[in-house]
Amino acid sequence: MTQGAVEQQLADQASSTKTSTKYVYFFGGGSADGNGKMKEVLGGKGAGLAEMTNAGLPVPPGFTIQTEACREYMRGAVDAGVDTEMLSALHRLEKLQGQKLGAGENPLLVSVRSGAKFSMPGMMDTILNLGLNDKAVEALAKRSNNPRFAYDSYRRLIQMFGDVVLDVPKKKFEHIFDAIKHREGVKFDYELKPEALQEIIVEYKKLVKKETKKDFPQDPLDQLVQARDAVFRSWQNDRAKTYRRINHIDDWLGTAVNVQAMVFGNLGENSGTGVGFTRNPATGERVFFGEYLMNAQGEDVVSGVRTPLPISELERVMPTVYDHLRAITWKMEKHYRDMQDFEFTIQDGKLYMLQTRNGKRTGLAAVRVAIDMVREGLISQEEAVFRVEPNQLYDFLVPRLDEKGANVEVLATGLPASPGAAVGQIVFSAEDAVKHHTNGSYPVIILVRGETTPEDIAGMEVAAGILTSRGGMTSHAAVVTRGMGKCCVAGAGDCVVDEAKKELRVKGKIYKQGDWISLDGTTGRVIEGKLKTIPAQPDDADLVKFMSWVDPLRRLKVRANADIPRDAKQARLFGAEGIGLCRTEHMFFAEDRIEHMRTMILAENEKDRRDALKKLLPMQRADFVGLFKSMESLPVTIRLLDPPLHEFLPQRDDLLVQIARLEETKPRSPKLKELRTLLARVEDLHETNPMLGLRGCRLGIAFPEITEMHARAIFEAAVNVKNHGGEPHVEVMVPLIGSIDEMRNQASIIRRVADQVFKEKGVTVDYMVGTMIELPRAALTADQIAEEAEFFSFGTNDLTQTTYGISRDDINKFLPAYLKAGIFKQDPFATLDQSGVGTLVKMATAKGRNTRPTLKVGICGEHGGDPESVKFCHKIGLNYVSCSPFRLLTARLAAAQAALEEKQGGLVHTNK
Ligand code: PEP
Ligand code: MG
Repeated sequence: MTQGAVEQQLADQASSTKTSTKYVYFFGGGSADGNGKMKEVLGGKGAGLAEMTNAGLPVPPGFTIQTEACREYMRGAVDAGVDTEMLSALHRLEKLQGQKLGAGENPLLVSVRSGAKFSMPGMMDTILNLGLNDKAVEALAKRSNNPRFAYDSYRRLIQMFGDVVLDVPKKKFEHIFDAIKHREGVKFDYELKPEALQEIIVEYKKLVKKETKKDFPQDPLDQLVQARDAVFRSWQNDRAKTYRRINHIDDWLGTAVNVQAMVFGNLGENSGTGVGFTRNPATGERVFFGEYLMNAQGEDVVSGVRTPLPISELERVMPTVYDHLRAITWKMEKHYRDMQDFEFTIQDGKLYMLQTRNGKRTGLAAVRVAIDMVREGLISQEEAVFRVEPNQLYDFLVPRLDEKGANVEVLATGLPASPGAAVGQIVFSAEDAVKHHTNGSYPVIILVRGETTPEDIAGMEVAAGILTSRGGMTSHAAVVTRGMGKCCVAGAGDCVVDEAKKELRVKGKIYKQGDWISLDGTTGRVIEGKLKTIPAQPDDADLVKFMSWVDPLRRLKVRANADIPRDAKQARLFGAEGIGLCRTEHMFFAEDRIEHMRTMILAENEKDRRDALKKLLPMQRADFVGLFKSMESLPVTIRLLDPPLHEFLPQRDDLLVQIARLEETKPRSPKLKELRTLLARVEDLHETNPMLGLRGCRLGIAFPEITEMHARAIFEAAVNVKNHGGEPHVEVMVPLIGSIDEMRNQASIIRRVADQVFKEKGVTVDYMVGTMIELPRAALTADQIAEEAEFFSFGTNDLTQTTYGISRDDINKFLPAYLKAGIFKQDPFATLDQSGVGTLVKMATAKGRNTRPTLKVGICGEHGGDPESVKFCHKIGLNYVSCSPFRLLTARLAAAQAALEEKQGGLVHTNK
C-alpha cells in the first residue's frame, strides 16, 4: 500500500463505527490516561509506563492498546475503534514530540512491544525502530550526524520486522549479516562501516521480497498496523503457550501492545542501555544490581549476545546519570513497595526509564527481601507472606555440591545466575533435552547452550540445570531458570559451545552429548564429572524466621509421606506434624526382605504363608519402632499392604531368559525347578489390569493373615515404644476400600489383633482405624464407610486415576496432546482436578462428617504438596495435607496463604 493509503483506510473504517470501549491509553507530557492498577487492561508493562509517567519519571511518551483488542483479535474481529483511537493517539504523540512517524527531517520512530497482565519475559514479540524506511533513514543519518547508527537501526528494523511480522526465518538474515561481517573482517557488529550496513539493508530487502513476494513496507503506518497485529498473534505462539501452561496463566487474558517513542542507546559512546534490580535477585541482598552496555540497544543486553558490564562501572563512567538512576529506582521501590526490575536508556547523556516492575527473584531472594522489607517498614508481616510463591521455597531445599574429598576440577566459572547444584548429562538442544527426558535415557539433564532463547523453554523445563557460554545475570537463561527454581550458570565465556557438533570445548577438553558435568549455580562454577550432592538444610535463619510468621496463620496441619525413619527425621526437620502415609510395602523391597516376601507370595497354603509372614514380622516391627520413635507423640498413619503381589516377583521375561540359559547349560540344576515354579506363580498372578485387580484391601481380604501380621507388627511396636517412655499415636489405614463391608472386614481383623497384643503385653495404646478414599464408590458411600472408619485420607493419585479412568502410569502417552489442545490446563496427577475429583473429595468429606462429626480428614496423594491443591483442601475444610518431605515448606506456606486469603475475604494474591 502507498504511504497515506493505510491512514485513509483506517479513517474510513473508523468513521463508520462507534464504540464504548476505550481501547487506547496515552502516556506522556507528565500524565497518563491509565495507572499502575490497570494491569488487567494495560498489561504489566503498560500499567507500569502509566504509573511511571504519573510519578514524573523521564519516560519516553507513547500509548498502550489494551488487552481487549487482543482478545478481539483472537476471536477474529477487532473493533474499528481500535484503529481510530490508535490513530488519534499517534497524532497526539507526534504533536507532543514535534515529529511525524517515519517522516520529515526529524522522523518519529517507535517501539512496539507486548505486555500481558503477568510478566512473560521474552515469550512474545517486540519491534524496535519502527517508522524507518528508505527516506527516513537518510533523514535520521543527517540529523544524528551518525549514518552508521541510522543504517544500523534500519537494518535492525528490517530484520525484526521480517522475522516477527513477515515470518522470514531469522537465520536467513543472520546468514547475510555474518557473510558481510566476515568479508569486512570485523569481529563486533559495531565495527561495520555505514557502507557495509547499507549493503546489508539492500540484501535484507531482497530477502524480504524473495520470501514474501512483497517489498518491505515503506508506509510507517502500514508498519505500525502490521506490527501491532503481529504482537497480538505472538500471544498465541508456542513458547508463550508453554510459558503460560507452566505458570498457570489464563490463555484468554491476551496481551496489550505498547507503542512508545524510541530513545537510542546506540547513538555513540555517550549513549547506552541497561537493566537492573534494586536488590540482588539471586540472594535478595539490598544492593543496587544491574548491567549495561554503552553504544547498544536494549536487546543487546538481554539477549546475551554481548556480555554486559556491571552497573558499578556506570558510576565511574557517568556519575550524574548513575546517581539519577539510583534515586529514581529507589523512589519506585518505595512507591511499589517491592523490589524493582528496571530498564533504562541513556541517549546523548540523558537518562530515560523504559520500564520498572516488580522483579522476578529466586526463593532465597524472595524470603530475604520480604523479611528486609518488613524490617524497613515497607510492608506488613501478612503482606510478606504473599511475597513468596510456595513453590519458591524449594530453593532452600535445593542440593549443593558435596566437594569433601572429591576431585574438584573447575573447568570454567560463569555467572551464578540461579542457585543450587545440578549434576547431569549434557545435551545441546532443547529437542534433545526433551527427547532424552521422555525416553528416560538420561536420568538428569543439563542443557548446554551458547545462549538460550525463548524457543528453548520446553528443554529448560525438563533440564535440571542450564549452562550458557554467553549472556549476563539478566539474560534469558538467567531470568527463566530463576523463575523455575533451577540451577543456572550463565556467561561462562571459557566454554566453547558447538551446538552443531554437539560439543562443549573447555580447558582443552572436549565433552560430548551424554557426558556428565556438575554445575554450581550459587558460585557459577562448571565442574568436570559427576560430583555428589548434599541436600540443602532448611536451617537458613531468614527461612526460619519467615516460617515462624507463616505457621501460626494456617489452619491445615501438614504431614509427610514417609516410609522409613530416615525420611521421617528429614520430614520433621521440614516441619512435618505427623506421618500421613507410610507405604508399608516399601519396607519389603529391601534386600533382606524381598526373599521372605517372595516365599510368602509363593506359599501354596495358609500355613506356609503364615510361616513366611512370621519371618517378616520382626523386621516390620523394628521399622515401626523406628518410625514411632522419630515421630515421638505425633500421629503416624500406617497403610496396609497395597500393591499387586506380582510387583514383588521377578519379571516374567527375565525368568524366561534365565530358564532358557539354564536349560542349555545346566539342565539338571535344582535351580531350574525353582525358577519354573516361580514362573508358574508369576503367570498365575498375572492380571490384565493389575491396578484394578488383586491389590489394596482385596489382598487383606483374600489373605487375612497378611493384615494380621501387619497389625501385630504395628501394635507390638507401639507397645514396645510406649514401654520405653514413648507416646505413639497410631493410625492404621486400609487402602482401596470401595464398600463398608470391605472396611468392616479389615477393621475387625485389626481391632481383634490389637486386643490380643494389648492383652498379651498388658499395655494398651491409643489408635484409630481409618481408610483411604481412592475409589469413586468409596466417595459416594462415604457416609456408610464413616460408620466404621475413624479417619479418611484421600488417595488422590488413585482417585484421579479411577475418576478419570486414566492410568496414572501411562498418562504421558497423551498428556502432551491434551495440554496442547487445552483439554488439560495441567497434569491432573500434579494439580487436583477440582471440578471433578475435587467434587468427590468435598462430597465424601461432608458425607463422612455427617455420619461421624469428629471424622479426621486428610489427603495423601501427590496433590498434598501442590499449592493450588493445598489451597483447595483448606477451602473445603480438610484437617491436614500429607506430602513428600521436600514439599513440606511449600505446603505450609500454601496453607497459610489460603487461610489469610480467607481472612481477607477471598482475595487471591499472586506474585506472577
Ligand atoms: C494415592 O493413591 O493417592 C496414594 C497415596 O496411594 P499410592 O500412591 O500408594 O497408590
Ligand atoms: Mg493409592
